[in-house]
Amino acid sequence: MVITRILTSNELDEAVRLLESGEVVAFPTETVYGLGANALNSKAVAKIFEAKGRPGDNPLIVHCANQNQIFEFTREIPQEAFKLMERFWPGPLTLVFKRTDRIPKIVSAGLDTVGIRIPDHPLALRLLDKTGFPLAAPSANLSGKPSPTRAEHVYSDLDGKIPAILDGGPTGWGLESTVLDCTVSPFRLLRPGGVTLEELRGFGKIQFAGDILEEMTDAPRSPGMKYEHYAPEAKVHLVLGENTPAKIKKLGEDYVRAGNKVGVMTWEERKHLYGDFTILSMGSMGDLNRFAVNLYHLLREADRLGVQQLFVEGVKDDHLGLAIMNRLRKAANNRIIKT
Ligand code: AMP
Ligand code: MG
Repeated sequence: MVITRILTSNELDEAVRLLESGEVVAFPTETVYGLGANALNSKAVAKIFEAKGRPGDNPLIVHCANQNQIFEFTREIPQEAFKLMERFWPGPLTLVFKRTDRIPKIVSAGLDTVGIRIPDHPLALRLLDKTGFPLAAPSANLSGKPSPTRAEHVYSDLDGKIPAILDGGPTGWGLESTVLDCTVSPFRLLRPGGVTLEELRGFGKIQFAGDILEEMTDAPRSPGMKYEHYAPEAKVHLVLGENTPAKIKKLGEDYVRAGNKVGVMTWEERKHLYGDFTILSMGSMGDLNRFAVNLYHLLREADRLGVQQLFVEGVKDDHLGLAIMNRLRKAANNRIIKT
């Protein structure tokens, strides 16, 4: 058991010192908080898997300070990928390339590829700049839980397990990066995120097999996809279609009669439809950016309020909605109701 310190941006040097001594530190990025360690130090990286309880076959994303570093760690970068780097870095786009031997096996979970990006957050960039090494960093939550978008989320999951959390306030996107496999032609979307499929398609053909990719297989392209994810303690039910309010009311009342506390995640303008249940507001109707920023916080709030059955209104599966629905489907773990 270690004491977990919360560091302010003025104490960045302490975070640098810890990382240099082979420790893990949670830090803000523009997507979610990451749990970082020196990506070139296997022992330090092992501490990430230990603290999170992360399965060893789920590879970590390597965060770099600049494009020059990319060449040390990757090989066979296709020409089209340079345009994506140019347009979207720093930013929420992870590109998967063949890796060089500089990347320890533990980072890539034994794969011959590495997922890499430049984060767009001043504190993350200062950390990368000051340490001089790349940071391997998955989301800083306990494995399977919703990703942390505030320092207090990290604290509630990892208190006593990591030495420090660098507090940079709430994160900007609220969802993890888009992951794009650049080792195949055409490139393949492995995880939707802040950089949308529509934006990527502006640069060329992209394959996306949607939920088929999320099914458990022996050799999933993105190993993280086979695990349950983003799930609060409350059972999440994702409700789709025209008759969502009637269905939620009917099922919700059944759960209440069975003694369960019921919550509904809905738009501000629709919350009056669900008067008797605990409301978790998604914000003003149609503002997907705002909803994405709050999504994981709302899932954690549901637990804090003791909600046992959480009904969530689905959103349209395009643009940022694709990433939101991808996370909601996983949080719902197949409890998807079509009305
Ligand atoms: P997290 O950092 O927890 O948000 O998860 C990172 C995601 O990126 C997981 O779904 C990983 O499986 C995926 N990922 C990381 N590196 C690779 C890689 N080399 N090949 C394919 N997927 C990767
Ligand atoms: Mg994660």
